[in-house]
Amino acid sequence: MKYSTLSNYVDGEAVKADGSLLDVFNPQDGSLIAKVPLSTADDLDRAVQAAKKAQPEWAAMPIKERVQIFFRYKYLLEKHLKELAELVLEENGKTMGEAAAEVEKSVEVTEFACALPQLTPGEIEEVSRGVECRVDRKPLGVVASITPFNFPNMVPNWTIPNAIALGNAMILKPSELTPLSANRLAELLKDAGLPDGIFNIVHGSREVVEAICDHPGIDAMSFVGSTKVAKIVYARAASHHKRVLALGGAKNHLIVLPDAHEEMTASNVAASMTGCAGQRCMAASAMVAVGDTDSIIRKLCEEARKIVPGKNLGAVISAAAKERIEGYITEAEQQGAKILVDGRGATVEGKESGFYVGPTVIDHVRPEMRIAKEEVFGPVMSIMRAATVDEAIEIENSSEYGNAAAVFTQSGGLARYVAEKASAGMIGVNIGVPVPREPFSFGGWNESRFGTGDITGKSSIEFWTRLKKTTIKWNPEARTNWMS
Ligand code: NAD
Repeated sequence: MKYSTLSNYVDGEAVKADGSLLDVFNPQDGSLIAKVPLSTADDLDRAVQAAKKAQPEWAAMPIKERVQIFFRYKYLLEKHLKELAELVLEENGKTMGEAAAEVEKSVEVTEFACALPQLTPGEIEEVSRGVECRVDRKPLGVVASITPFNFPNMVPNWTIPNAIALGNAMILKPSELTPLSANRLAELLKDAGLPDGIFNIVHGSREVVEAICDHPGIDAMSFVGSTKVAKIVYARAASHHKRVLALGGAKNHLIVLPDAHEEMTASNVAASMTGCAGQRCMAASAMVAVGDTDSIIRKLCEEARKIVPGKNLGAVISAAAKERIEGYITEAEQQGAKILVDGRGATVEGKESGFYVGPTVIDHVRPEMRIAKEEVFGPVMSIMRAATVDEAIEIENSSEYGNAAAVFTQSGGLARYVAEKASAGMIGVNIGVPVPREPFSFGGWNESRFGTGDITGKSSIEFWTRLKKTTIKWNPEARTNWMS
């Protein structure tokens, strides 16, 4: 085992957890690399108490001082980029380029947090004669962030810099499948000067997530993961009167029109479906091909064949994920869909125990098939055929999800028409992975998000703070009106 058994991180120190241990595997070769504790409610409580103790002093620091730590943290993320990316590669199985891009996105969200003093000044107005009203943004207290396996560095960083710079103390519960990056981030935050108790990690799975939902000392929590769990977590935490934002899964549609630029569309679609082995909530997994798009589909297959497991395609997270993804492909084939590129049974020489699925393109999928409706979370594209743009939009709109949608066309008018009608929070025009960059915020619609607002960018400022309104009469002789 390359790494020793992981500890929780509480009050600036590694702390042994009470719970049992779970094996952590490197998906590229199936080797055991670490063990992670499955913490209990008592383990969580220790972290909450430490966070509660530390938070008031942290909140009392002016934000301009608090963000100095994130300037240093940003520098440390950049300085250790290669090492952080290698850790992501080991625990998640994506390629080095993808892992490095993930850390670069963490740098970008930290850069946004460094700008928070410029984005969050309060307001003040004379509301009656001699009477002023001022509005200040205040932190919530102790908050929690629960994250998925697919971006072990980036998704924790969607929440850490913003929530903490805004004056909260945080408890992070990383995915038990990819728990290593989080502990390294804790070390970097400490090196950057973050006071002990402001950032804590409690490892584990369902038991500790439920304890987070129930704990009265946690004021707000964000969740990123599958829709099934997002729904449960949202309802459970909200029933304890917590502020909750729960981002769920996705089924992102690309609508390809016959006038789309052939090469650009094919390479973009192939990149969207295979990037991070299709394990991105922004990955396109359904393509609605409108009218005569056969040459684009042929080109897409050519591009997909250039993407090779173990070379420019990483592994999927587990043996169970590989089996599930291949099961979807086989079921679609049995239901009459046509497999144009088949990624089942992929292996990589020297890494025969790795969890690989090759790029898969399936044509003539019908909207009622399971593969067309459910999140596959692998490098698989289901192509559905539509006669008109409106029929394509109808297929997109019928999805229960609504994270992203994209249109490929050279017609500005048609692009705008589809962008307006698509029922998704993030829209791409000739872009297969339309992730908004800071200061714009990240978040979907429909069953891809439960709660209000988005998780990053300007929208996250609302989520991690509350408003204090103070009405002040400076001078007892002030002329007043009925309100005063
Ligand atoms: P997951 O829902 O299985 O796990 C997410 C978190 O929930 C983990 O920390 C896990 O320990 C915990 N968890 C798992 N089962 C639980 C249960 N029954 N009760 C309480 N907690 C539980 O998700 P995953 O497989 O780690 O990640 C992949 C999913 O995340 C995909 O659906 C993907 O689309 C989604 N995702 C969404 C976004 C987004 O922004 N919308 C971003 C990344 C990933």
